[in-house]
Amino acid sequence: MKAVRSIPLAGPVLNGNERKYVMDCIDTGWISSNGKYVNEFEQKFAQFCGVDHALSCANGTVALHLPLLAYGVGAGDEILVPTFTYIATANAVKYCGATPVLVDCEPDTWNMDPQKLEEKITANTKGIIVVHLYGHPANMEQIMKVAKKHNLFVIEDAAEAHGAECNGQIVGSIGDVGTFSFFGNKIISTGEGGMITTNNKELADKMRLLRGQGMDPKRRYWFEVVGYNYRMTNMQAAIGLGQLENIEWHLDKRRSVANNYIELFAPYSEWFTIQPELSWAKHSYWMVSILLQAKVKISRDDLMKLLDEDGIETRPLFYPMHQMPPYYDTDNYPVADDVSARGFNVPTNALLSEMDMNYICERIVFHCKANG
Ligand SMILES: *Cc1c(COP(=O)(O)O)cnc(C)c1O
Repeated sequence: MKAVRSIPLAGPVLNGNERKYVMDCIDTGWISSNGKYVNEFEQKFAQFCGVDHALSCANGTVALHLPLLAYGVGAGDEILVPTFTYIATANAVKYCGATPVLVDCEPDTWNMDPQKLEEKITANTKGIIVVHLYGHPANMEQIMKVAKKHNLFVIEDAAEAHGAECNGQIVGSIGDVGTFSFFGNKIISTGEGGMITTNNKELADKMRLLRGQGMDPKRRYWFEVVGYNYRMTNMQAAIGLGQLENIEWHLDKRRSVANNYIELFAPYSEWFTIQPELSWAKHSYWMVSILLQAKVKISRDDLMKLLDEDGIETRPLFYPMHQMPPYYDTDNYPVADDVSARGFNVPTNALLSEMDMNYICERIVFHCKANG
């Protein structure tokens, strides 16, 4: 029997000026990809990340495709990506005809392991896409060192990590390029949407050209290259601006939700642990993620099924790329295999109440004890 209570995993919280700005788009007719909200959202996002250029685009996947195109990535090139990520990271490389070369993750951050990264570099390696998984930043200090040593570009896939920091530096401003997603379940949302950040003007100009079908900025309807329509609409940007105005509130709420979970689960650390926040890192807590320990006898999937019956929506951690058909690979990725098999996400959103969190923790503990 389904429980009466229903706690969703995630969802947007649109409690600022979003409605007002969208109504303004409709009232003025500026609903397509020109308009003041696009410019203002880009400017404010650049400020938020402390970078010179921010380019809005249709979603977080094309936000990865555009910089790869601008770098001229194509057939024969290899791009290093973590195996433990959302599939869009690897797909963007494939769209260019290049090969994503997978790298295992670290046991603590669950992000790309800098040492294993270096082992995978070949003469064909052109760049690195590093992911800040679930909002915990990757070890950028070490990754940037490896990149400099081998002259590789670094794209930060920060789709899940708006506002996260490494040693006080905000993600999206550390590598050569940062990319973000505003899908409905991300830290802030525009429905569908994405953003690219960079301090490289030449690269920004190239990406702008490719984003708008390749139209010459000085000569309308004259096209020098094959481009794409990867633009964001003014309505999406209107929602995005409303969200961005409140981003510190969203981040604070997520942090307090995470802290509450950490406190609730602390007495059960033999049973399950939460993806930690390392001393040099500021987690943005896109999704609080739990790892089952050896003491728990029930399987991860059975536990998730019981929680679903309790009205608690959870989600398994991502399947590593090397396990799935498009990127199947028989190299060894022991850390990604292990973490992915034992972990799941618990509801993480700004409006989650303490009562809900108490209930979630209580049910998880109950099922582990009853089935142990
Ligand atoms: C969500 C996500 C993307 C893709 O963003 P979309 O807006 O859904 O296209 C890319 N990379 C990671 C790590 C993501 O979580």
